[in-house]
Amino acid sequence: MIPFEKCPACGGEVVRKRTEKLLRGGVNLATMAVDAEVCVRCGERLYSVDTIRAFDRIRGKLERQQVAEFELIGKSFRVPVVPSAE
Ligand SMILES: [Zn+2]
Repeated sequence: MIPFEKCPACGGEVVRKRTEKLLRGGVNLATMAVDAEVCVRCGERLYSVDTIRAFDRIRGKLERQQVAEFELIGKSFRVPVVPSAE
């Protein structure tokens, strides 16, 4: 299914590519490999409706800590504000 033939942002050509999407739900993050139409001019990524629904489902699971089916690959950290070197 190709939802877009041209980029809606700039009118450029789009090509199907395997991309990595970062999803956040609550304090949890997950990466997911998905196919997207990617604009060759501006880099805009366009996802199918089914893919966007999958993102919403995964964000909900992350938020509710329902992560048993996901592979744990590391921890995430927040870096404190780095003081400016003056
Ligand atoms: Zn574009």
